[in-house]
Amino acid sequence: MELRQDITTRSWILTGKREGGSASKDNRCPFCRGSEDLTPKTITAFYNQSGEWNVRVFSDKSPVFQIEGNLERQAEGMFDKMRNIGAHELIVESPKHGISLPSLSENEIVDVLRMYGARVSDLKRDSRFKYIHIFKNHGSLASSAIDHLHSHIVAIPVIPARVEKELRWAKKHYDMKGRCLYCDIIYQESKQKIRTVFENKDFIAFCPFASRFSYEVWILPRIHNHSFENNLTDGNIANSFAEAIKVILSKVEKITTSYHIVFHISPNEFSFRTLKDEVGTLIDDFHWHIEILPRLERAGRLQSEEEFYINTLPPEEAARMLREK
Ligand SMILES: [Zn+2]
Ligand SMILES: [Zn+2]
Ligand SMILES: [Zn+2]
Repeated sequence: MELRQDITTRSWILTGKREGGSASKDNRCPFCRGSEDLTPKTITAFYNQSGEWNVRVFSDKSPVFQIEGNLERQAEGMFDKMRNIGAHELIVESPKHGISLPSLSENEIVDVLRMYGARVSDLKRDSRFKYIHIFKNHGSLASSAIDHLHSHIVAIPVIPARVEKELRWAKKHYDMKGRCLYCDIIYQESKQKIRTVFENKDFIAFCPFASRFSYEVWILPRIHNHSFENNLTDGNIANSFAEAIKVILSKVEKITTSYHIVFHISPNEFSFRTLKDEVGTLIDDFHWHIEILPRLERAGRLQSEEEFYINTLPPEEAARMLREK
């Protein structure tokens, strides 16, 4: 497979045949304790006192990215392409089968978050990777195939289009006003209080002003921080974040059992040696956050192909309903 850039939108497309990963005939759940032989070997894990894993990380069985080699960025006439260098890891977040994230205790969620942070820090040491993408698809409408709590971590040599847009507009706002765009949003939301769903001392959760999906919720740290993985090393922050996630997802799950969670975190600063300008003000202008995107129905054509969203539920009403759940 290789990465090709769409020169008209500058987004990157992964193209070519997917290798490996024949379907297993085994009926066991590959993510349960005791079926580790059905997955690639453990990259890292957190263990309990009896030596059994509680959170386990391994490579995807049929990865769309290859870890070995150089990017070999090349031109083909006016077009740009490079090799599919990257990493695709799965994090199994609990040994318990068939549960969802808010069923875990706050301490268990803290462990999951710590593992995300540890993987991001480790993968960022590889300067070939520009961005480490953490996401979760939960429930059938969010196209999760295995009913065992897990998330994906994908390290890629490009910045995903939506994150790239966020970085660009955050930088523009900062250049113009000398303030972080997200800190400004937090200030306004906590003053207006019509879209807030939950607040604790370190985090705020609200339905964004232009929500793309019904009951969409963003969770942001109140104090400015661009780096998710560094922020999480503070035990109080990790606990508050786990509390916010547990509260919000419990509410969302009363409405739908299908949702995506995406992390928008700072790109890998070590991969930008020659592009200092692009990320030079990153520490001040980017503010990490997560977006919870509930799925009430399958995505329509206009939404998935044109990125034009129609949401019939105003976020003010969604926030009020979520507060009451
Ligand atoms: Zn299982
Ligand atoms: Zn900020
Ligand atoms: Zn975002």
